[in-house]
Amino acid sequence: EEPWQAPEGEPIIRIENVSKRFGELYAVDGISLDIHSGEFFSLLGPSGCGKTTLLRMLAGFELPTEGKIYIDGQDVTNVPPYERPVNMMFQSYALFPHMSVADNIAFGLKQEGMAKARRQERVREMLSLVQIDKLASRKPHQLSGGQRQRVALARALAKHPKILLLDEPLGALDKKLREQTQFELVNIQERLGITFIIVTHDQEEAMTMSSRIALLRDGRVEQVDPPRRLYEYPSSRYAADFIGSINLIDGHVLSQEENRVVIRSEEAGGDLEVIHSQPLLAGTPVTLAVRPEKVRLESGDAQLANRVSGVIKEIAYLGDVSIYHVELATGKRIQFTQSNVQALAEQPLNWEDEVVLGWPANSCGVLTQ
Ligand code: ATP
Repeated sequence: EEPWQAPEGEPIIRIENVSKRFGELYAVDGISLDIHSGEFFSLLGPSGCGKTTLLRMLAGFELPTEGKIYIDGQDVTNVPPYERPVNMMFQSYALFPHMSVADNIAFGLKQEGMAKARRQERVREMLSLVQIDKLASRKPHQLSGGQRQRVALARALAKHPKILLLDEPLGALDKKLREQTQFELVNIQERLGITFIIVTHDQEEAMTMSSRIALLRDGRVEQVDPPRRLYEYPSSRYAADFIGSINLIDGHVLSQEENRVVIRSEEAGGDLEVIHSQPLLAGTPVTLAVRPEKVRLESGDAQLANRVSGVIKEIAYLGDVSIYHVELATGKRIQFTQSNVQALAEQPLNWEDEVVLGWPANSCGVLTQ
């Protein structure tokens, strides 16, 4: 798969070497990023990695200690929030409790001095966009969490901002509603063609919705890529581990012939093979990374470059698939997944079963950091 190519033309947002220091702590530490018009861009990472601080700097609620922010080619580093073509939707939704849904949505338009008739028209358009036409006269306390989230979204979109910033927009919703709302958000974003930048710590959410994801680590960008590329080609152990589940097997390079690398691994109890085009020196410490869905049961006839054997120690039944944890003689555990439809057709697997697992050299990656 080819690396991501930036579209032609100026990015709608350029973040240039931006840092934010709180006392001794660099919450954001020298981040540079270009975000393009129409993207659904996620800032992803664990708690405290600086996602919200970066988003707040884009909104103008926080000023960078260093660096510059450009929106639409204009240096907005010191421009106040209300003069930026962006709007922000807060995790708390921050609705006015004494105002109706319609008045909440109209609030910003009224402040801007939009005439009443146009305002009402815009409110109707927004209510219908987020599918809450019937709730216009309710007060926030008469709404469910999901409905409040829609009002907050409608209010944030009412001014037709070029860019919408969303801080954990689905964080307060239960799992089922969150999954459903993810698709709706993408749908709305595509229909309006507005650039969405969202903060989330939930990798599945970021994977589902984003055109690209910036994975942050301690105030820096670890990797920025479309979801698929981030999943298939993580550039570091950190990225591999954060996105989905993965088996990480330590070792060192024994040899490389053309693009076929042999890794000697004490953890695996033998040698492993991986396809890697960049040259690697013998002796380099590396980690082989293989996704659980790429590992399969050795059935005898398969020509698998990599083979390990062990005992099933844990089985998690997830309905469509099961996840198995296999313990090797070295004590290392390898996870693999199997579709339950397939498992039914074949021999069912049980705890303490001895199995041989394998995966091809081109279904795993090698990480050097
Ligand atoms: P979370 O997912 O928990 O919200 P985050 O990735 O959004 O985390 P930030 O909220 O950006 O992280 O915080 C990054 C770091 O900066 C944290 O260590 C936080 O404690 C610190 N921080 C954030 N805002 C301030 C502030 N106003 N004053 C001092 N420290 C702050």
